[in-house]
Amino acid sequence: MSILVFLEHHGGELQRNSLGVLSKAATFGNNDVHGALVGSGVRAFAANAGKFGAAKVHVADDTSLEAPLPQPPVDVLASLVQEHGYDTVLFGQSVLAADIASGLAARLDAGLNWDLVDLERRDGALVGKRPALQDTVYVDVGWKAEPRIALFRSGTFDPKETGGDAQVENVTVDVQEFSKAATMIDQAHAESEGPSIEDADIIVAGGRGLGGPENFTLVEQLARALGGAVGATRAVVDAGWYPYATQVGQTGKTVAPKLYVAVGISGAIQHKVGMQSSGTIVAINKDGNAPIFEFADLGVVGDLHAIVPKLTELVKQRKS
Ligand SMILES: Cc1cc2nc3c(=O)[nH]c(=O)nc-3n(C[C@H](O)[C@H](O)[C@H](O)COP(=O)(O)OP(=O)(O)OC[C@H]3O[C@@H](n4cnc5c(N)ncnc54)[C@H](O)[C@@H]3O)c2cc1C
Repeated sequence: MSILVFLEHHGGELQRNSLGVLSKAATFGNNDVHGALVGSGVRAFAANAGKFGAAKVHVADDTSLEAPLPQPPVDVLASLVQEHGYDTVLFGQSVLAADIASGLAARLDAGLNWDLVDLERRDGALVGKRPALQDTVYVDVGWKAEPRIALFRSGTFDPKETGGDAQVENVTVDVQEFSKAATMIDQAHAESEGPSIEDADIIVAGGRGLGGPENFTLVEQLARALGGAVGATRAVVDAGWYPYATQVGQTGKTVAPKLYVAVGISGAIQHKVGMQSSGTIVAINKDGNAPIFEFADLGVVGDLHAIVPKLTELVKQRKS
């Protein structure tokens, strides 16, 4: 098996998701796990990929690859697969990775399995695990042909540093004319402080029980006091109360912090699947029969407007 892992990077660093997929690929126990690094001024990141299990990193470093657009990386990956014969290409899920993986599948006429939460070798075949029926069951999925392309749900694998060194190989960049048709006009970043929900050890998440967007300050204040990040349910994201980037669940992010505090969240299955692997789950809900109490480690039944400000004060007192 020869595996190529797409190494996504933003803001000058490799994404945790890609490193997690790389670490997983490295557990298959051969020396054939390689990385593909595509961008401008990215050569320096290759060493870090070596630490997480890449034996070799193909570096396509060119100013034409500066913008995070999908088609130029498809060109680079397609020629790497054709030239080196990789039979498996793996991606950590993101908007960009999904675009590149689907473009690559179309270009190479290859099979793509997405939203995977595990991968194993079984009787010589590669088998992916994929949640289905609104995450109530898992199905085993395979590929009929090579290369096998797979996208893994965000946060599925933890990056594991093994301390290796990657051989760096420079790639001659040859971007097709049709791949230059899209250009990046502007890139804007949402202002945020504190850790992102993918990286945070503590998440305080708010739901519709907050009653309105203005009450998210309660959640933000508690998150700040605990040194954590703010999460949200789809109900509040759909209502425009909080940004999609913070949505936890089936159609949002999968998170596994040490502590997850759910404030005014009912605990619908689609939310649960995104946070059930958290270390300790604390729920604050005025309805003692809310489903969240079925899987919370600690439950507080009461009005969040009374409980959350007191909790924030207590945390601040303890910390000072
Ligand atoms: C295909 C599909 C995908 C989905 N994907 C996602 C997803 O990714 N993430 C996600 O979160 N949801 C997702 N959903 C939606 C999901 O089914 C639920 O509708 C949603 O999670 C509910 O959000 P909520 O808990 O904020 O709201 P509600 O279900 O309305 O719950 C609000 C809770 O707040 C409590 N409450 C009210 N007032 C107070 C108070 N003053 N003090 C304390 N508690 C109070 C209530 O008792 C209630 O339990 C998806 C649904 C579908 C069909």
